[in-house]
Order: sequence, then structure tokens, then C-alpha cells
Amino acid sequence: ATPTALMVGTGRGAQLGILIKGPEVLETTRKVDTIVLDKTGTVTTGKMALLAVHTADGTDESQVLRLAGALEYASEHPIAQAVAAGAAAKVGALPVPEDFANIPGLGVQGVVESHAVLVGREKLLTEWAMELPVELERAKAEAEAAGRTAIAVAWDGEARAVLEVADAVKETSAEAIRRLRALGLKPILLTGDNKAVAESVAAEVGIDEVIAEVMPQDKVDVVKKLQAEGRSVAMVGDGVNDAAALAQADLGLAMGTGTDAAIEAGDLTLVRGDLRAAADAIRLARKTLGTIR
Ligand code: ADP
Ligand code: MG
Repeated sequence: ATPTALMVGTGRGAQLGILIKGPEVLETTRKVDTIVLDKTGTVTTGKMALLAVHTADGTDESQVLRLAGALEYASEHPIAQAVAAGAAAKVGALPVPEDFANIPGLGVQGVVESHAVLVGREKLLTEWAMELPVELERAKAEAEAAGRTAIAVAWDGEARAVLEVADAVKETSAEAIRRLRALGLKPILLTGDNKAVAESVAAEVGIDEVIAEVMPQDKVDVVKKLQAEGRSVAMVGDGVNDAAALAQADLGLAMGTGTDAAIEAGDLTLVRGDLRAAADAIRLARKTLGTIR
């Protein structure tokens, strides 16, 4: 590859909203045959909304919103922002937590108004030996069947509520998947969210392989496993929890709308957070290198 041709390629990339770390990235971009896509913030907008609150028998809804909202206010996770905003809209000012910790891939824990509060996946409650009562288990199943994410709320050792949150698939995602397939790539959806939600998003955008309920630290192993099968893997992500997988992938594509950690770990940045730019990047790399061989 001649330096001039590569520069033309990367300059065109900038016009398409693709930032390429260095000319050597084009060669890997040309070769990838599999594309692993993070769900939240990559295929979906990541702008979630709190849609419903289901309380356990005898639990006060405004207390659920106050305690859960207060903790989530301290987290940057898209789900947390939806819960905090939804709670504040209903109950007004939220208390300030006396203690707070983020548990990546699971949720948040802390102390609010002297209650030890957990908000997150059912698995977070299970780890603390708590389980959802039947009425909440049912609410959770119904929410997930509808393609929504169900978040559990517990305090003082008891599960108290299930919150329904959902975010929309980006308008550009389905077309992007079609274009990636047309380039011969196999798309795989990878997420920490549960299987039912992941499958509903996958169906909406035309992805038929889903790897769900993956802990943040395990995303990198999914990429390694695909590589061990002989695949050349591109990974697209936006979160701190995607950074290791982006670095491990043969080609890491970061959403420009995502976190700095993802952008630093990636080889390429999709400036506008539009997945179609991933297909543009691969086509551009093939064209640039193809014409100069
Ligand atoms: P993704 O891989 O789709 O970007 P994450 O790995 O960040 O998702 O989170 C996985 C799951 O953990 C979420 O779908 C949610 O159920 C739960 N979770 C993570 N952080 C939070 C939080 N702050 N509040 C509530 N739930 C959370
Ligand atoms: Mg994400």
C-alpha cells in the first residue's frame, strides 16, 4: 500500500464520520469477517426511559422511587439515568445517599435514608441471598417478554419492586446490519442484558446470533473465543465495559458518542455514533487497499 493511497483513504474516512487511528488499521478493517455488536448505546440509543413500577405487596411506590432514584442518580449508567429522571419526575427532589457503590454489569448498592439499598439485575439480589416474590417475578417475566429490561429494587434484605425500563433501537441500526451482511460479515449481538430483551432487539435489527447475560469482564473472552475459532473479529461498543473487548478484537470500533475508555481502546471511531459508518469503514478499507494492489 502506498502512503498516498492510504492518506486518501483516511481523509475520505473523516468525511464519512470515521476517525482512523493509523493507516495500518485499514489492512485489518479489510479482513474482518465477524462483527460483534454491544447492545446498549451501540445498536440502541441508550437513552432509556422508566416506563413502569411494580411494587411488592405492602410496598409504597413513592418510597421505591425515592430510594432507587437516589442511588441511581449517582451512577452514569444509561439505566440509572432513566431511573433517576423517572423517579425525580414523580416524587420530586431525591435524597442524597449516605453511601454508594457501582457494581459493573449488575447495578448499584448503597445506603439511603438509613436503608441498605440494591438496584439492578435479579442476579445482584441473588448474590445477597434475596429472591423476588411471585408477583414481582411475574411482572419481570411480562416486562422481558415485551422486550423491556426489568430492574429489581431491594432494601434491608427484601426485594421490594421491579422497574421497567426500555430504550429504542437506533433508526439506522437495521440498515447498518443489512449493509454489514452484504459485505459478508456475520453480526453477533453481545450484551450484559437478559436474553429475552437481547433477542427482541436482535430480531428488530436482523441479527440472528445473540450472546446475552455476559458480565463486563467476560466480553473480552467472547471475542477471544471467536478468534480461536479462526474468525477475524470486529467489535463495536461504547461503554467502559466494552473497552477490553475493543482492544482484544482484530478491529475495535468505538462509538464517538460513547465513553472515553471505549474511544481510547478502539482502532477506529464512528464519530456520529451511527452504525452505518462501520459498513462504510469496511467498504472504504477494501476499496482503498483493493485499488492499490
Ligand atoms: P450492556 O452490555 O448492554 O451495555 P451492562 O453490562 O452495562 O449492559 O449492564 C448489564 C445489565 O446490568 C443491565 O441490562 C442491567 O440489567 C444491569 N445494570 C447495570 N448497571 C445498572 C444500574 N446502574 N442500574 C440498574 N441496572 C443496572
Ligand atoms: Mg453499551
